[in-house]
Amino acid sequence: MTTAEDNLIYMDNNATTRVAPEAVDAMLPYFSGNYGNPSSAHFLGARAARGVFEARERTASLLNCSPEEIIYTSCGTESDVSAILSALKSCPDRRHLITSAVEHPAVKNLCESLSEISGGNYRVTSLDVDREGRIDLREFEESLSEDTALVSIMWANNETGVIFPVPELARIAREHNVLFHTDAVQAAGKIPLDMKETPVDFLSLSGHKFHAPKGVGALYVRKEAPFHPFLTGGGQEKGRRAGTENTAYIAGLGRVCALAADHLLESAARVRHLRDRLEKGLLEVLPGSAINGGGSERLPNTCSIRIPGTRGDELVSRLNDYRICASAGAACKAGICKMSPVLEAMDIPADYGTVRLSLSIYNTEAEVDHLVKIFPEIIRGD
Ligand code: PLP
Repeated sequence: MTTAEDNLIYMDNNATTRVAPEAVDAMLPYFSGNYGNPSSAHFLGARAARGVFEARERTASLLNCSPEEIIYTSCGTESDVSAILSALKSCPDRRHLITSAVEHPAVKNLCESLSEISGGNYRVTSLDVDREGRIDLREFEESLSEDTALVSIMWANNETGVIFPVPELARIAREHNVLFHTDAVQAAGKIPLDMKETPVDFLSLSGHKFHAPKGVGALYVRKEAPFHPFLTGGGQEKGRRAGTENTAYIAGLGRVCALAADHLLESAARVRHLRDRLEKGLLEVLPGSAINGGGSERLPNTCSIRIPGTRGDELVSRLNDYRICASAGAACKAGICKMSPVLEAMDIPADYGTVRLSLSIYNTEAEVDHLVKIFPEIIRGD
């Protein structure tokens, strides 16, 4: 098995990931010897500043952009919120925003509340998806107008792994002179992201989704894009994000960016092999089940499987009894289950329960085969 604890199978990597040992090694010096503030004028400060500088180069390299285009933040949510609020400030005369029906709450909730926090009159177009989780490009283009301040559409979905054609969407937005933000929190470190090939203005990523710790993220801001900081105060990050840099975590994020960049294709192939083996096995042993978004281009690590006559929350709870960590496609409170907005937007029938199994490079074939073997027993509840 893959973790320090025995008899544990972790397949909830879209929720968070195990920190890579290489990231721990990169972080440790900044907790002990190199504890200076990167803004300080002395040698300890310079050491910390050097660590942040190196991390920024590595993060930029993963995105094929320039280091000055990277701003470190506390998480994916902060990156999303900063990008969206900045774009709206940049275009005060435009009152329309385009997003998708399947965004993470970090984007969705902000978009929904915009009319309240900005004195009203923002119009939000939330693009529908089809049964495979895909966006209609024509509908997207038709929804752009001279009043559109920003498009915010995720690169890959956290529940299904479905990938949106962000390079194409961003090109269309650019042709209409509209700023484009993408939440790439689930895509970063899993699939190639190339800012030279993709005309987005803002991109969010989060360290803990690809083996850095929780509590560090980054926002890519294209050099030419206008930017208004969300957090103001000190002049850190060239005045674009106040708050003393979290040097240790930034060093950890830099390290995992380098790891991802160096091994992206081989890691993706390895994880895809495990995911495909898992899906093939589960579809064979679970009659009537199907993969949510299975007809779409997807992240290599994500399996969202719907199983007839089950409840996702119950399955996750039974998997937990077997020390298997997974997620459900529904939120339940006081016994009442509500399908996730993502699955609802895809019109997944309510008589299926969904389980999301999200893998990483630390999973093994033995784990996959074990899960396939015991899943029918887990469903029966014996
Ligand atoms: N966006 C997506 C697609 C996510 O999956 C998540 C986390 O689940 C976030 C944003 C928020 O990231 P963070 O937890 O770093 O704030």
